[in-house]
Amino acid sequence: QALLYIVATPIGNLGDMVPRAVEVLQCADLVAAEDTRHSQRLFSHFNIDTPLMAYHDHSDDKRTEQILQRLEQGQTIALISDAGTPLISDPGYRLVRQARERGIKVSPIPGACAFVAALSAAGLPSDKFSFEGFLPAKPGARERALQGLVDDGRTLVFYEAPHRVVGTLEAMATVFGGRREAVIAREVSKAFEIFQLMPLVKLVEWVRADSNQQRGEIVLLVRGAERSRESELDAEAQRIMSLLLAELP
Ligand code: SAM
Repeated sequence: QALLYIVATPIGNLGDMVPRAVEVLQCADLVAAEDTRHSQRLFSHFNIDTPLMAYHDHSDDKRTEQILQRLEQGQTIALISDAGTPLISDPGYRLVRQARERGIKVSPIPGACAFVAALSAAGLPSDKFSFEGFLPAKPGARERALQGLVDDGRTLVFYEAPHRVVGTLEAMATVFGGRREAVIAREVSKAFEIFQLMPLVKLVEWVRADSNQQRGEIVLLVRGAERSRESELDAEAQRIMSLLLAELP
């Protein structure tokens, strides 16, 4: 039976590879990978010799079609990205969508995901959050995107490139205010993993003062807006009040 597996791979520490992921990659007829050379290293570490095919955001419809046809012939294909969970700021949506439209079974092999790992250890509220992925690279568009989030009460989670982290933190301090708490989570699961939680105004300084903090892989998390949390509380208080009032004789 045709089966498309969406397989998570480690975000830095190869020890985080789940056994089922190794098994599925070993047994698949083909593995579609963002960067085949990069994935070759993972394959040699886990003794996987399944054929690899490049599949990335720039892949044309022909490539997607090729994979879909092989699935329709009954092959088992696995999709991986360079690191973490495919489709999370990574390619794969078009393939998954079209596979489902053609009635092909799609099944995930869960594993590492950088923003989930960062959120789980950051120390910011995690009951409600919004994963925003990468902000626009251009400063104007980045600031507009941040403006749109200024009243959001949920913890905001971003991916950021190291050479943009200072500029982005500065923009966040300007738009959200320097007192808003934020966390930089860097090199999660790797040798130089570090989490730093501070008000934005201090975090900008801390990152600016140490060029090591402007390297590697980075997740930024920002505490949600207070005001909206208060009005949520108000709404909850009003809800309870009206329930109580309804019970009064
Ligand atoms: N699909 C991946 C996932 O599940 O997290 C994300 C892919 S995205 C192209 C790459 C971005 O994820 C990096 O620029 C960085 O923001 C974040 N990232 C990946 N690995 C990380 C790590 N070990 N520590 C911190 N951030 C990481």
